[in-house]
Parts: sequence; C-alpha cells; structure tokens
Amino acid sequence: MKIGFVSLGCPKNQLDTEVMLHEVMDAGYEITADEEKADVVIVNTCAFIESAKRESIDNILDIAWLKEHKDLKAIIVTGCLAERYRDEIFKEMPEVDAVLGVGGIHHIVDAVKAVTAPKKKTYSCYDDKETVELGGDRVLTSPDYAAYLKIAEGCDNRCAYCAIPAIRGKFRSRPMEDLIAEAKDLESLGVKELTVIAQDITRYGMDLYGHYALAELLHKITEQTSIPWIRLLYCYPDKVTDELIAEIRDNPRILKYMDLPMQHISEHMLKAMNRHGGSELVRSVVEKLRKEIPDIVIRTTFMVGFPGETQEDFDELCEFVKEQKFEHVGVFTYSREEGTPAYDFPDQIDEQVKQDRMDCLMREQMLINDAYVKSQIGKTLEVLCEDYDEVSEIYYGRGVADAPEIDGKIYFRSEEKVFPGDMIQVKIRKAMDYDLHGIAVRASVTEAHKKAKENG
Ligand code: SF4
Repeated sequence: MKIGFVSLGCPKNQLDTEVMLHEVMDAGYEITADEEKADVVIVNTCAFIESAKRESIDNILDIAWLKEHKDLKAIIVTGCLAERYRDEIFKEMPEVDAVLGVGGIHHIVDAVKAVTAPKKKTYSCYDDKETVELGGDRVLTSPDYAAYLKIAEGCDNRCAYCAIPAIRGKFRSRPMEDLIAEAKDLESLGVKELTVIAQDITRYGMDLYGHYALAELLHKITEQTSIPWIRLLYCYPDKVTDELIAEIRDNPRILKYMDLPMQHISEHMLKAMNRHGGSELVRSVVEKLRKEIPDIVIRTTFMVGFPGETQEDFDELCEFVKEQKFEHVGVFTYSREEGTPAYDFPDQIDEQVKQDRMDCLMREQMLINDAYVKSQIGKTLEVLCEDYDEVSEIYYGRGVADAPEIDGKIYFRSEEKVFPGDMIQVKIRKAMDYDLHGIAVRASVTEAHKKAKENG
C-alpha cells in the first residue's frame, strides 16, 4: 500500500506533515513522491486566508482527478482547512474519504486503515486540538542540514483579522526538555541551521513556566548542542524582552536575524487590528534592536487595506518603511475571514485599492532592497551551502540574512569542492535583485567535507 503526501502552507504545517509521515511509515506503509502511484493521498491543508483556502481546494480537486481517472483509492484531508470547514468538506467534495481536524493528527493511521478496508467507509476525527500531544517523532522533509523546531502551538494574541486562534486553539508551549532533546536529535542528523517557529515564539513559556522563556530556551539549546546557526521566525513586538535582545546579541550562534511581523504602524490601525502595544512600542522595539545589535537583519510583514485604513494611515506606513529600511518586507492585502471580528467591521476597503496600496509599498521596498543588497558587495559573508546548480555550474546557499524559502540566495564559485551543509566564507562581488554572487574564499571544514576529502 503506497501513501502520497501533499503538504501546503507554512513551515508549522510542514512539521505536522513530518509527524504524520513518521506515523504512517512506522505502521509499515510505503511512501511515494509520485501521487499517480499512490493508493491513498493525504492532503495537509492551509486555510488562514482566502488565497490559501483556494490553493488547498485546488490541490484536493487535482488529486480527486486521479481518483476518477487513475488508480487512486482514497483521499484524506488534514490540517487547517479540515479544521475550519469540517462540515462542508464531505458535502462540497464527495471525493474526499476522510477528514482529520488539527486535533486528529495522531489518528492518521486509523484514517488510512478505514479508507482502505475491504468494507471501505468514510472517517473523520476532530479530537480536542487544545489537548492533542504536541511534537512527536518526524521524518524530515527539509534538506539534511536545515530543520524547523516548533516550540509551541496555537495563539492567544487574537488579532482582529486572524482565523488562526480559532483554527489552532490557545497557545501551548512544548516543555523545554523535549525541545532540547529534539534539537540534539536534529544535530545528530547533521542539522546546521535550526529555525525556531510557532505562531508567536516570543510568548514561549508563559503558559508552562509563568514567564517568557525564549531566551532561556535558546541559551540551553546552544549550551547542549553545537548547531552553528539558530534562526528566529515569528516574533511579536510586545514580547521582545531585553533578556531576549541580550541573548541574541551575546550568543554567537543565535543568528542576528529576526522575523518580527508588525502589520502596520498607524496607531489607529494597530488598535483596530487588536495588536498589542501601539505605534510607539513598535518603534521603540525596532530602535532597541538596531541599537543593541547593529548588524541585525529584520524581516517584517505589513497588511494593507484593513477595514477603515485611510490614505493617511497608508501614507504613515509608507513613511515608516522608507525611514526604517528593513532588510526584508512582505506585504499582504487584508483578507476578509468569516468568524473573525474584522469580518463585520465597517469601511471595508475596495479590492483594487488594497492591491494598489500593496503594489505601492512593494515598489518602495524594492528600492530599499536594491540599496541593501548592493551594500553587501565587497563583504565576506558566512554561507551555508545548499547545493550545486548543474545548469549554471555554480554553488548556491544562504547567508545569515536569508531565511529558508522566503529570502534570497548567495551564488558562488569555488575552486575546492563544496558539499550541501558546508559553511563557506564567500566574498561578494555583485548583487542581482534579491540575490548575491561571489567567490568562496575559505571553507570551514565540516564532517561532510572531511569525509569526502578522506574518500578522495
Ligand atoms: S499573532 Fe496575530 S496574526 Fe499571528 S497567529 Fe496570532 S492572532 Fe494570528
């Protein structure tokens, strides 16, 4: 019996896919990367905004075509779409055989058994998402040298536009000892870059230990492993504590990189969005980060077209972006999500206006980005090699400033052979769009490198 997986959405969802992969393989099923050869396909979906829902539905319908025209026997839908639209999925997509909400992740093998039994039946499971066991053994789907570490699940921030707290439940941290053990396991697999994720990593520990404990967790992970790069995604401005800033500043293995979604800067908008802390707080956190850690790279996201956003609010945001010169900015248009407070807000903004504002902000950011990448020319940067591009005959990887999958790449030539996972010093010669190009000047000798040299 062969099982195929389609994993959609963010790295947090990817980790759930990895846990399900492990459970399915542990039960003796074979995994196939070719959906046409699968007996069962599991689609792990995303549903936090309209475009993500559309993508999830399109993927399910593509897989449904295989059921009608090829040998596919069953489709199982899991993840956020399954949780959010639990009643509609069987009704609207009769090709689907099983639906598991986010609390049903550990019932994946039961679902496979039910939909492949001689007397096949549909299966659904919506166990309590707030008591489901977090973490679990996983099969890494990322390259050997990089992995995500999910330190918590759910969210208590309740931003007025966001469906995630309703889908994923209240914020729950994973115990520190479990996370350290998982980091050790990942290190033993050869992981060089550990990216710490959750809906809000800065809240880590409050529910379990009564205080924000991210700094302590990071300190312990670097004390008890020798993973060289620890990267932080999804921080929330009002919980970036002085202790956390000091840990990033003083711990050489915590990358000077922070993903800090701000969403807006107008006081009026931040209040309407129910973001904690206002404009002053956001400005002071950015100022403190820049002052304490002068080389920090800040990635942020902004939302335009939230109900009631005036031209003045938008102009204020543009000014802020121009003045702050963030290294990486993502801009999204507000998506009106049923079940969220903002769905019923007055003064919803016209789609074209939202789009125009997004384009305008992105144009500003492109100029900033252009200047930023050009400022890297002449520097020697540490690069984690990802692979070799056979067509262009060039190596590529990422520097401290580039998170996996979202930021740019560094392309480089090297006289010595370099392997994925090797850390290399690259002298930057030119910049193109979001990417940099350079020459390897020094290779740090890693295990992979050493072994290859020994083997000639
Ligand atoms: S912090 Fe806000 S936007 Fe992020 S998941 Fe929580 S509620 Fe949603």
